[in-house]
Amino acid sequence: MRKLATIQTITAIEPIRNADSIELVRILGWAVVVKRGEYRVGDTVIYCEVDSLLPERPEFEFLRNSCFKPAQIDAAGNIAVPAGFRIRTVKLRGQYSQGICFPLSMVRGGDSIPIGTEVTAELGIVKWEPPIPAGMVGKIKGPFPDFVPKTDETRVQLLADVLERHRGKEFVVTEKLDGSSFTAFHYQSGFGICSRNQWIDETDSSSKYVTIASSFQLREKLAETTARLGFDLAIQGEMIGPGIQGNKYKLGFVTLRVFNVINLATRKLLDFEQMQEVIRPLGLAPVPFLESLTLNHTVDELMELAEGKSVLNESTLREGIVLRPTVETYEEETSGRLSFKAINPAFLVKYEE
Ligand code: ATP
Ligand code: MN
Repeated sequence: MRKLATIQTITAIEPIRNADSIELVRILGWAVVVKRGEYRVGDTVIYCEVDSLLPERPEFEFLRNSCFKPAQIDAAGNIAVPAGFRIRTVKLRGQYSQGICFPLSMVRGGDSIPIGTEVTAELGIVKWEPPIPAGMVGKIKGPFPDFVPKTDETRVQLLADVLERHRGKEFVVTEKLDGSSFTAFHYQSGFGICSRNQWIDETDSSSKYVTIASSFQLREKLAETTARLGFDLAIQGEMIGPGIQGNKYKLGFVTLRVFNVINLATRKLLDFEQMQEVIRPLGLAPVPFLESLTLNHTVDELMELAEGKSVLNESTLREGIVLRPTVETYEEETSGRLSFKAINPAFLVKYEE
């Protein structure tokens, strides 16, 4: 789970060119624009990451004009996301700024709280989620099954130590696609389809997830593949195309690009090469391969690598990149598997995401 608001130290302060009323502070791998002179190196602050939704409390009211979001109500009339102030990536005087800082006095026990402590709940902060278009998902069968690992990637800004630890290792860099997470599995003779967080009724043909599964004949093909390989498996990918996240790549039809093939007996991911061998005969394509690299990069260098256009459409900014070792590697800090993302800040500013 992402820790949206934590106690952190300001590790560096830098001037911003042609701006004398603001400056840049560094917190973990993040760059945050603040009022000049507000902080000093070594100060301890409350740091809220982008996607924090701050509650409607007097101390946050100064944000109303810049980033108030009304509550999101779901189909059943319940509040899906409450009203509040949404922290997002911005660009000020040519400088990207991600997140916001507050003084320690805003939380109980202020000065004595250890660095890294999470204060999200105490401040009433929740994660901002973009509204999900009605109709796309279809009928829900239940919560995401616990026998399939969920899709997720940690942000590189939190991983300076991890980069250091795995220096010299070979990595595969793929383009991070902005669509909807799709899972199909064959498990104990059963077939199922899931969105990011839900198990979808595979008989509801109004669902885009169901349509894509039948167009690739995934029920039959996963059963065949399971028989051939000798273990149950799940395939996970990004569904992209018309009706999904604004169809940023301007595709003519909905399709799937695969990023995970998981052995459900061991819960281990196949390496990128093996994954391609499994999906090729199924007529499925992987997420775009960008390059192989030997890790020798700082957070900032990987953030630079994240910028650029999409290989799916030269006129669209790419959302970012995902880095994984060529050979699956254990790493405690990234939920047990070494894998992480660097999101293109220009993409976040452009699409207000
Ligand atoms: P956060 O956890 O940072 O709040 P989030 O959970 O909404 O964000 P994303 O930013 O969408 O997640 O990043 C993780 C998702 O990216 C994965 O769940 C997967 O669906 C998607 N994804 C797209 N392209 C790739 C890729 N090339 N490799 C791995 N995952 C990818
Ligand atoms: Mn996540």
